[in-house]
Amino acid sequence: MHKKAIYPGSFDPITYGHLDLIERASRIFPEVIVSVVNNPNKSTLFSLNERVELLDKILCSRFDNVKVASFDGLLVDFVKDHNSNMIIRGLRAVSDFEYELQLALTNRKISSGVETIFLMPKEEYTYLSSSLVREVAKYGGDVSQFVHPVVVSKLKEKFAV
Ligand code: ADP
Repeated sequence: MHKKAIYPGSFDPITYGHLDLIERASRIFPEVIVSVVNNPNKSTLFSLNERVELLDKILCSRFDNVKVASFDGLLVDFVKDHNSNMIIRGLRAVSDFEYELQLALTNRKISSGVETIFLMPKEEYTYLSSSLVREVAKYGGDVSQFVHPVVVSKLKEKFAV
């Protein structure tokens, strides 16, 4: 039986789309580890610590079986280190498919036994992405229907002049 699933991503910042997926995963798996990628080659709006902190604030009080972590290096190594073989990823639209397929097949190739499970969010979140949220917030738009109130405040702080 698969006890633990790893949900990796940038979460820059976490949106209601991510949250929808985490909720679904938490109903399927006894334990879910939401894992923030520390990729120094990718510039992010929020630092690794800020992203982890936001996830912690939003998830820990809400789910008993969801933990937050961060990792660098290979995802499959992180997955194995946690005695898991399940990766959760999200599919919003056809546009996600090519990249996600490439990622899933590469991970399976370099670490046999590791499987990727794709979950689809509620239809209303299929268009939602962290990059759009950052863009709207940057120009002062209202992002409260896309992200949790603690993220709204953090975005306001970030873009305050
Ligand atoms: P990454 O840089 O690894 O793609 P993201 O935080 O953008 O990190 O996404 C992590 C995962 O969550 C990806 O599989 C992505 O497709 C999925 N995801 C992002 N936004 C949504 C959403 N609105 N609904 C469902 N899945 C999503």
